Amino acid sequence: MKIDWLIVGAGFTGCILAEQIASRLDQNVLIVEKRDHIGGNAYDCYDENGVLAHQYGPHLFHTNSKKVWDYLSTFTEWLFYQHHVLAVIDGKKVPVPFNLNSLHMLFPIGYANKMEMKLIDRYGLGKKVPILEMIEDSDEEIQQLADFVYKKVFLGYTLKQWGIDPKNLDSSVTARVPIHISRDDRYFQDKYQAVPKSGYTAMFKNIIKNPNIKILLKTDYKELKDRFSAAKMVYTGPIDEFFDYKYGELPYRSLNFKSIHHSNTDYYQETSQINYPNDYDFTRITEYKHITQQKTAGTTIMVEEACPYLRGMNDPYYPIPNKEHTELYRKYHAEADKIKNRVLFIGRLAEYRYYNMDQVVARALQTFERQIINK
Ligand code: FAD
Ligand code: UDP
Repeated sequence: MKIDWLIVGAGFTGCILAEQIASRLDQNVLIVEKRDHIGGNAYDCYDENGVLAHQYGPHLFHTNSKKVWDYLSTFTEWLFYQHHVLAVIDGKKVPVPFNLNSLHMLFPIGYANKMEMKLIDRYGLGKKVPILEMIEDSDEEIQQLADFVYKKVFLGYTLKQWGIDPKNLDSSVTARVPIHISRDDRYFQDKYQAVPKSGYTAMFKNIIKNPNIKILLKTDYKELKDRFSAAKMVYTGPIDEFFDYKYGELPYRSLNFKSIHHSNTDYYQETSQINYPNDYDFTRITEYKHITQQKTAGTTIMVEEACPYLRGMNDPYYPIPNKEHTELYRKYHAEADKIKNRVLFIGRLAEYRYYNMDQVVARALQTFERQIINK
């Protein structure tokens, strides 16, 4: 078979670009994936107890983009699901993002009422305020409350998750979970929120169903690259690896996932995700049945503990956004630019960006329109 395109990586980015090339250009695509499955970090499967679990941590789909939603809806039906997260603060489980309900659960009624009025006056009802902005507020009482939230919700969690103080991390990271001046307890407020009805992996199988697409699992591009030349290529792996780390390694954060099955109870905790900013070494526990709404006896939970990324030892899950790392990435990006007619570098690892799933879907669709079909 003649291969028109080689795609490295079978995550969202690789699979969607394969689908677009195969169906809209009627060209042949070979995907190589070093893991033994498709789906990238969104991969899910049934564990030995029959519980559908996300192997690489909880994946909640949420987007405001109708284009992204409509595109994925051609490959899956949906299970509507709104994510709710609790965090253990001073022995109480309160909603995160920290909001007006969290305020009332943690403080005496008089203080909570006063601060609720103050926050609404200052920021407006419904506003989302990054913690690093609120701790700079000129009002002393708001500053004190923000300081409490910083210490109890963000400091411990961020130190565990990133090994870095929130103030030394790019502000965009903690701004993902802003203080919400609202009674809305949901983790996300996006217009579309759901998980694929039969799971992510089933959706991925449909995305790459076109007979123009072939896939080789358990195949590392590194071992293939000198023996293979496709006309064009999409690379979704780590960009520094592609260029043999010539400018040094881009830092990542990795995770240890511990899956535990409880056969003596149908549910382990009251909601899908509970965060532990101040206790234990792990950051969060996810219980999948709350997400997938599966009816089974017993339940499986996943405990996540972050750790340093060590090349060859574990996986690079999170790019660590800051100025120094962005500068290093730019050097690799400049190399990539020189070969952009032959190789496209797209996705969370290839662009060294902390993308959510909907962002990589949008990015893949946009890349096809701008850099492939309209070239
Ligand atoms: P990936 O999914 O990383 O896929 C890249 C693929 O390339 C991988 O399968 C990898 O094995 C393969 N590969 C790499 N190098 C090579 C090589 N040399 N040869 C062959 N194959 C190679 N997003 C959300 O929107 N909501 C969430 O709730 C959410 N939760 C997350 C939780 C965790 C713990 C993590 C880590 C991420 C989460 N995300 C979430 C982000 C989401 O996983 C990513 O946005 C998305 O998976 C990125 O897709 P991608 O195709 O760019 O990369
Ligand atoms: N965060 C925190 N405490 C929490 C939840 C989040 O400090 O209870 C911070 C932490 O730095 C985390 C970041 O906000 O890494 C982003 O959180 P998010 O839930 O978006 O992380 P992800 O699901 O991508 O791991």
